[in-house]
Amino acid sequence: MILTDLPTGHSAVIVKIKGHGAFRKRMMEMGFTKGRVITPVLQAPMRDPIKYKIMNYEVSLRRSESSMVEVEPLEASHTSSATESDAFASNPANIIAPHPGQRVINVALVGNPNCGKTSLFNVASGAHEHVGNYSGVTVDLKEGHFDYKGYKINIIDLPGTYSLASYSPEELYVRNYLRDQTPDVIINVVVASNLERNLYLTTELIDMDRSMVIALNMYDELERSGDKLNYKMLGEMIGVPIVPTVSRTGDGLDNLFDTVISVFEGYNKDVRHVHVTLNKHLEAAIKSISTVIKQDGDISRSISPRYMAIKLLEGDSSANETIKALPDGDKILRLRDEEVAKIEKYSDEDIATMIADEKYGFIEGALAETLVKGDRSNAKSTELIDAFVTNKLFGFPLFLLLMFVMFWLTFTVGQYPMDWLEGGVGWLAGLLDSYMPDGALKDLIADGIIGGVGSVIVFLPNILILYMCISFMEDSGYMARAAFIMDRMMHKIGLHGKSFIPLIMGFGCNVPAIMASRSIESRSSRLITILINPFMSCSARVPIYVLLIGAFFSAHAAWIFLLVYCIGVAVAMLTAKMLRKFYFKEDETPFVMELPPYRMPTGKAVWRHTWAKGQQYLRKMGGIILFASIVVWALNYFPLKSHDSSADNQDSYLEMIGKAVNPVFEPLGWPWKATVAAVAGIPAKEVVVSTLGVLYTGDEEADDASLTQKLTAPDADGSVPFTPAIAMGFMVFVLLYCPCLATIVAVVKESGSWKYGAFTVIYNTVVAWFVAFIVYRTMLLIA
Ligand code: GDP
Ligand code: MG
Repeated sequence: MILTDLPTGHSAVIVKIKGHGAFRKRMMEMGFTKGRVITPVLQAPMRDPIKYKIMNYEVSLRRSESSMVEVEPLEASHTSSATESDAFASNPANIIAPHPGQRVINVALVGNPNCGKTSLFNVASGAHEHVGNYSGVTVDLKEGHFDYKGYKINIIDLPGTYSLASYSPEELYVRNYLRDQTPDVIINVVVASNLERNLYLTTELIDMDRSMVIALNMYDELERSGDKLNYKMLGEMIGVPIVPTVSRTGDGLDNLFDTVISVFEGYNKDVRHVHVTLNKHLEAAIKSISTVIKQDGDISRSISPRYMAIKLLEGDSSANETIKALPDGDKILRLRDEEVAKIEKYSDEDIATMIADEKYGFIEGALAETLVKGDRSNAKSTELIDAFVTNKLFGFPLFLLLMFVMFWLTFTVGQYPMDWLEGGVGWLAGLLDSYMPDGALKDLIADGIIGGVGSVIVFLPNILILYMCISFMEDSGYMARAAFIMDRMMHKIGLHGKSFIPLIMGFGCNVPAIMASRSIESRSSRLITILINPFMSCSARVPIYVLLIGAFFSAHAAWIFLLVYCIGVAVAMLTAKMLRKFYFKEDETPFVMELPPYRMPTGKAVWRHTWAKGQQYLRKMGGIILFASIVVWALNYFPLKSHDSSADNQDSYLEMIGKAVNPVFEPLGWPWKATVAAVAGIPAKEVVVSTLGVLYTGDEEADDASLTQKLTAPDADGSVPFTPAIAMGFMVFVLLYCPCLATIVAVVKESGSWKYGAFTVIYNTVVAWFVAFIVYRTMLLIA
């Protein structure tokens, strides 16, 4: 029977995984091995993908993928023997630095996505990295350090991986890092409530034969679930000390680092060199290959020969290259081929699958003796929430509702603190006006700095609220469900459900969002996701909408807000479809995505992330925006205008630039000031509003009327005022045109080619013009 035909709620045993090598390998890593019990629990609103339960965690597969899995329906039951354990009390040793003076320990955190590495990193090092409840948040390594019991501990947070294969950039990255940087101690972070899958990576690390400690993280969840794990015994069995931790609160971390020190100093008695023993045919092959590798001194110093031999047998391409580069590489590869042929005589299973099977067998054996399962109340609440959140009928509307609530909070509720800030800025300007003597300096401070920076700073509350919403959705686990719900749609535009997450993150800031695209395995999907990301309206563009919507559409604010965002999304979708059709080939990577259990985000984590963004915003304010405001002010101030109104007024430099470029935007009905603002916004989009602020409040007859009123009033110099139609077109243009400098740099860096950066600049600007034109003309017709 094919997995797709298995009715929801019925269990079955996996018989076979069909399909090509990479697909099968990925499935194995996620725990899809022969004999494993699997249960479909839920279908996404459009019947695709389907959520399955396997080894007590949840994973979503597309129909096309689950149709590659052959199963045998079954009623299964699980039992295992009893054990006891107590949590964080048992300190292994009271460590006093045996070597006085500072000793440095380099520690690397390795684990599956979403296992709590970054939380651990933050608590241990006091840093403020972003945590999220879905895979792929950590895209670059983060370094921190702290002093502990006389040691200086350097700690590194690596990206999450399910294995050390070389399919995704993360896997390759972690692997190369471990090989080239050789950290002193690896902390393998595993999720206590999902050991079977998490320990797969552990078996690979054991093969690497490195100093290692396992952080049995989310121990609180294990305890709540009623499961009992004898981790002490498990640690002895696999030869790696295991320490329970709750990285969210910091429980057990002292214990963890005590153990790290004892492993580093070499007096931890749990440390034992254990082989994850495979079947005898495999072991024979490994032995003969690793013996030959051992003869090459260089390679066996940095990589365990056994590990290398296993990777060679798996047909791993990067291991292949490493070996090929050796002096007698050809000999080793020939030997490998012979051994592969020998094994294939015994079995028609492919070798990578066979190895994964054996490893899961090893894990199962170890857990059978140490783990007793309780009832799963935690999983039940996740199931209950999911029944609603990913429901056929409610899933979509709920998703849209949440998006709407997010925008409503950002705009409508955010209006109040914004008004207060605006009042403050106005008060400051008034103060200046009455106490400073007239002159260029006063103009610089009042119009340049307060007018420019002030008009942007008032949007800080809106941005904080937007980030708080995104942060909450990430931390709770809803974001992964959003990807699940959206996969079908993403698939239609040739993308992957996973692409959805970086795209949503783009609403915050395109730069980290583009970096988050790294978690997408397929290169073409990754590139498309990167290229369409700038169309996701980032928070730097929020001030423009807030200003113009407030001025022209205040009656329907949230709806117009949503409409603008939707235009961005629509352009992104069309672009993706076109790129897929005309430039990239079809994407064949499997969807396979983990759905983490819902976790109530801690207020602290959400606030931490939100505030980090706030700080970033303020820093930008003091930096590029202040600078741009002063430049724009100066360009507008010079050459000095004659104050004698009878003499003909000379244009400022800014007016010259604006008027020179303006013809391009005449079809859109723009006043030249709009043109200048758009041009000035290329370094950072916030500058668009600050430029409007400088240009409009810098008028001769400046009084305390707000920027909003000035936008709608006819200009003294006869340039057209903003109208609703112009405002709408302007918003759409700013939404779509050439992204900010930081984003362009991110596109170039992540795509690895300046050509994609150039494409983004040109394509986006051209598209922006045309869409803005259409919007403007349409508005004129309906107005
Ligand atoms: P990473 O992907 O491995 O870096 O994982 P994160 O540190 O981003 O954490 C993923 C999610 O798990 C977040 O929602 C955390 O709040 C949550 N989390 C992390 N550690 C623990 C823990 O010990 N217990 C519980 N209950 N949740 C945790
Ligand atoms: Mg992380």
